[in-house]
Amino acid sequence: MKIKKTDHMQYMDGMEAIESDFMEKVLTAMKEYDYDQYSSRDVETALNKAQLSIEDYAAILSPAAMPYLEDMARKATAETRKHFGNSVSLFTPLYIANYCENQCVYCGFSITNKINRATLSMQEAEDELKAIAATGLKEILFLTGESRLKSGVEYIGETIKLATKYFSTIGIEIYPLNTEEYAFLHSCGADFVSVYQETYNTDTYELVHLRGSKRSFPYRFHAQERALLGGLRGVAFGALLGLDDFRKDAFAAGLHALLIQQKYPHAEISFSTPRLRPYINNAENNSKDVHEKQLLQVMLAYRLFMPYAGITISTRERAGFRDHVIGMVATKMSAGVSVGVGGHSEEQKGDEQFEISDERNVKEVHQMIRSKGLQPVFTDYIRV
Ligand code: SF4
Repeated sequence: MKIKKTDHMQYMDGMEAIESDFMEKVLTAMKEYDYDQYSSRDVETALNKAQLSIEDYAAILSPAAMPYLEDMARKATAETRKHFGNSVSLFTPLYIANYCENQCVYCGFSITNKINRATLSMQEAEDELKAIAATGLKEILFLTGESRLKSGVEYIGETIKLATKYFSTIGIEIYPLNTEEYAFLHSCGADFVSVYQETYNTDTYELVHLRGSKRSFPYRFHAQERALLGGLRGVAFGALLGLDDFRKDAFAAGLHALLIQQKYPHAEISFSTPRLRPYINNAENNSKDVHEKQLLQVMLAYRLFMPYAGITISTRERAGFRDHVIGMVATKMSAGVSVGVGGHSEEQKGDEQFEISDERNVKEVHQMIRSKGLQPVFTDYIRV
């Protein structure tokens, strides 16, 4: 099959361009970020400050900070307690569709992968929502592949409306939208939007996104701003750690989030820290391994740089690691997860996006959080 290569730094037809110089700022700073130039002294200076500058952030993300993880963890725990008390929010993701028109080399949903594809009907979606709500959860995150054809904005809006009957907080992790589409989903009941840039290295971005609308780097980059302009309450950022140089990607994601926070002070900001996981048909792809200690460093750096930002830890990570980072740095965790389409009320309809590590149900995760002297929270928000 012939693939028509589009320019990954251009917008495509129908994509809204907004006035913003954040992309240039982030990409320039990332290019200049040479983490090898930082010393233990720079790290110590950063750790002695109440509020970290961008330079301090660069230092604690550098290899020189690796021997200071315990100090960082102590400081991070104090910051987390200060801003979030001892609460840990729980949510579950629900895949409502896995059709995708993009070809991303690292994903099981990629258009060229021969997997079982499905979209939940409204009845099936409601059955899933009821089954999840019965576990006590009050926050849900809707996910789809990126297909405007098979899981269009109207369809997503309808499922969100259904979800408002059962959940007080609704997040969406779908393809990037224009401002008025975000406003529409907000009017249906969506509160949060997660868009992960995957990698901020535009050359790597081009290499791993071979086809489809996801190839447009700038459209994806400006999604959080469009979401906030559309009235959403919060936005989440993240790089897929391991796709490229994780230190540079984490540096860029932190800076991206900071700029948005400064321009939209009312916005609730959060981070996710996904690492590459095994996925269907990935034999020929080599991920740049990011070890747990390095993952921890990234999480600690996010916390110290933006102490009031939420940090989510997903079931991609093993139970022991997840248990270790809540309270210290992570403020939100998923539980009772199925990464296929459906799978909560009946058998799942479509194949998974990637493999998960922590398969504990909501009750088990709830108990674990309590056993650590922390407070599991189902909702901190009332829909009126
Ligand atoms: S990462 Fe997203 S856009 Fe890319 S193939 Fe997977 S579901 Fe589709």
